[in-house]
Amino acid sequence: MKFKILLVSLFILMIMNALAQEIKRVEPPNWWIGMENPNVQLLIYGDNIAELNVSIKNKDLKLLKVNKTENKNYLFLDLEISKTAKAGIININFKKENKSFNYEYELKKRENNPDNHKGFYSSDAIYLIMPDRFSNGNPENDNVEGMLEKADRNNPDGRHGGDLQGIRNNLKYISDLGFTAIWINPVLENNMPRTTYHGYAITDFYKIDPRHGSNQDYKQLVDESHKNGLKVIMDMVFNHCGSSHWWMKDLPSKDWLHQFPEFTRTNYRAPVVSDPYSSEIDDKLIEKGWFDITMPDLNQDNKFLANYLIQNSIWWIEYSGIDGIRMDTYPYPEKNMMANWVKAVLKEYPKFNIVGETWLQKESMTAYWQKDAKNKDGYNSHLPSVTDFPIHFSLIKALNNEDTWTGGIMELYYVLAQDFVYTNPNLNLIFPDNHDLRRIYSSLNHNYNKFKIAMAFILTTRGIPQIYYGTEILMDGNDFDGHGQIRQDFPGGWKGDKINAFKQENLSKEKIEAFNYVKKLLNWRKNKDVIHNGKLKHFIPENSVYVYFRYTENQAVMIIINKNNSKLVNTKRFSEILNKYSKAVDIISDEKITDLENIWMEGLSVRILELEK
Ligand code: CA
Repeated sequence: MKFKILLVSLFILMIMNALAQEIKRVEPPNWWIGMENPNVQLLIYGDNIAELNVSIKNKDLKLLKVNKTENKNYLFLDLEISKTAKAGIININFKKENKSFNYEYELKKRENNPDNHKGFYSSDAIYLIMPDRFSNGNPENDNVEGMLEKADRNNPDGRHGGDLQGIRNNLKYISDLGFTAIWINPVLENNMPRTTYHGYAITDFYKIDPRHGSNQDYKQLVDESHKNGLKVIMDMVFNHCGSSHWWMKDLPSKDWLHQFPEFTRTNYRAPVVSDPYSSEIDDKLIEKGWFDITMPDLNQDNKFLANYLIQNSIWWIEYSGIDGIRMDTYPYPEKNMMANWVKAVLKEYPKFNIVGETWLQKESMTAYWQKDAKNKDGYNSHLPSVTDFPIHFSLIKALNNEDTWTGGIMELYYVLAQDFVYTNPNLNLIFPDNHDLRRIYSSLNHNYNKFKIAMAFILTTRGIPQIYYGTEILMDGNDFDGHGQIRQDFPGGWKGDKINAFKQENLSKEKIEAFNYVKKLLNWRKNKDVIHNGKLKHFIPENSVYVYFRYTENQAVMIIINKNNSKLVNTKRFSEILNKYSKAVDIISDEKITDLENIWMEGLSVRILELEK
């Protein structure tokens, strides 16, 4: 008889387990008490889960609504967490007829004050890292069982093994160089058959790719970065996911993605979104076309997906302690949802900052995407920072093209003369290049003098400077040779590398000089409020000499760019600033200048002069 009872109990247990096993995913995997927004929406995924009745018996957690889609394998639960809720496990009860089981959902205590997520501003200098190509701190994770693509360092488009441990090992190198923040290209799981090293084809929004490390490693990296004086900016992608994403085999609803009878590519023409004359077909393709055959386009008009993405970013901020976000392809997703996302994040973290990738050719098109822009269509992105591609294009043209009435060095004058279109140009992200562009040293035809001018300009004009890894040692590469060429391995990041740039071992003389130049500039810039927040005044270039000042009431820095042969530059024209000062220090050569009336300029050179009374 006892045996029979035991058998029956076992049988009941098995049924209960069978029910329990139906839950394959709950996302977000946990949430926190004491958030500004008391609501959270859980995605529950499991076989026929929608056939179960859901209930929560807890005074601190109210089940507001159970949402179902056309797919019975999904439920979306609207929860409200009370202000007095305590951290701990909440039982979510799933019941079918007389069988039921509990899912234990964890509400955690917040580890950080929301204001500890500090944002990134013009007082920062950002080092951009492509993690697969920076440093292989853990060769053990180069190949991971279950991950489709294996490491192949000989393939420019393959995985090379760089990881979070590699970044952790070199935080001091980055902070000693003078940077105050790192932007790491996406590190979430990209379990795709090929070309996944760049991270932009996400297959799990809640998991760091095991070839980069674990979620815990990411959190650890953020902690250690903070201890080294570095903020962390996470790269996120809402426009698309990878075609091997787990939900692709069983979508929550047909409208989770933008779907077409046959593969339909985006037109990649971001200007369409703000174009007052755009056609319906162009509007449709920019927003709804797929970024690539391997990158299905997410439909942010689906309110469950919108909640999913918003919560996903808040989850990463809260979990890992990051300071900012760089959002990929900002103009491509549905733009009102993106604005709601920015508002939701900044409501939780008022000091946080977000830069949206706005890859546009023109100033006005870029300005459209910045918070509070006076757009005629009434659109407000709420996005504080935009990527200033016009500065990037103008810088290269200014240094490479012949000086004419409107060309050459005039490009720099004209690009800044259009700053009236921006709500706050000092929040623009400025860069000589990035992971998608020809490396600056190649753009400047390996001209070291031009390189020095480019770096001086980016680190002294308005905005938030971002420098791509390896720029400090003159790494080169052309985008037209394939993206692998602009994302080469950082020398010294792999065991056995002949050159170790982390220690300046076996670097050429010129590369060491470049390293010291960048290091000196960055460390000088670090504490110069006049560069971070001072006003900017520039003078129309004359005879290929461009002069601008960063200044406050009592401080001024004079920057002189000379594209011509060596000469004495008469400074009478700049007296409206200079008349308050009598001498200067050249912050690159340390030379003291006692006569400001005529300043010597070498051919094709730049000087940064800190003025003194
Ligand atoms: Ca590795």
